[in-house]
Amino acid sequence: MKFIPLLLIALFSLKTQAESPIAFAIHGGAGTITKANLTKEKEAEYRQKLTESVKAGYGLLKSGGTSEEAVIKAIQIMEDSPLFNAGLGAVFTWDGEHELDASIMRGQDKQAGAVAGVKHIKSPIAAAQLVMNKSEHVMLSGKGADAFAKENDLTTVDNSFFDTERRKRALEKVKQKLLKHDHAMNFSPDVVDYKFGTVGAVALDKNGNLAAGTSTGGMTAKRWGRIGDSPIIGAGTWADNQSCAVSATGHGEYFIRHHVAADICARVKYGKQSIQQAGDYVLHNVLSPEAGSGGVIILDAKGNIAMPFNSEGMYRASIDVNGNITVAIYGDE
Ligand code: ASP
Repeated sequence: MKFIPLLLIALFSLKTQAESPIAFAIHGGAGTITKANLTKEKEAEYRQKLTESVKAGYGLLKSGGTSEEAVIKAIQIMEDSPLFNAGLGAVFTWDGEHELDASIMRGQDKQAGAVAGVKHIKSPIAAAQLVMNKSEHVMLSGKGADAFAKENDLTTVDNSFFDTERRKRALEKVKQKLLKHDHAMNFSPDVVDYKFGTVGAVALDKNGNLAAGTSTGGMTAKRWGRIGDSPIIGAGTWADNQSCAVSATGHGEYFIRHHVAADICARVKYGKQSIQQAGDYVLHNVLSPEAGSGGVIILDAKGNIAMPFNSEGMYRASIDVNGNITVAIYGDE
């Protein structure tokens, strides 16, 4: 008789395990990414880095890590790679510097942290996490954020640490184009192709908790302390266990005005749409390639994944609840 309760406990724990799926997805930016403008070698490099990052985040979840930890881990791998517009390899501002933005949000308690326009923090996503966990605030900016990170022993670097030749050439090209137009800040896609390369991650851990994070250098040739959507909670990043987790990439001004990440999850929460329906609607009906080019990665509390975009391509990868991995770049994969 006394074995019956034990049996029940064993069955119950098997059931809870079966009911606790893990899933993970990342992006490395959206934009005019076509087979014609990516060499075979570069394409292989992107696929390799995306694979490394998605596997690292998923591996952490598998060994019992939290969704927050998995998001940080995967984003840091991309921040450290010159392939992406985040951390090392971030785009240049008009003045030839780097100003980095990042944010993170947890779905179980809606805690969030962000940094904007920082110049010296090696890992902006780690600084966003620090703001979330070690301060009373949600967003810190500029010099203050850099000082906060330093005081809390995050690694700081000279701004030139983020330089790469490729991004320097991109700045020169963009400046030439912009100066030809009357309005020096015409960022419309037909004037300038920005080659977005922001990075982001969304995770669902064994405890059923969602998290999302995003890190970026913003847009090439940005001026006057311009801040995009990436560090803005609700625009570039959102996580809520009751609906979904989202990380966005694209033309930030539109993503801010349409409150893209939170709007997608609101459609799921109140409109009872699936994440695919909500994401497709926002990317294709609210935004468009002309007015809000970009994409998002979305994950819900059941582990469903959606990765809609309205640009030609989006660097992306995911591992679903069955452990199946997808790594893709172009629109037709
Ligand atoms: N959303 C970013 C920004 O506007 C750029 C990007 O995603 O590539 O700053």
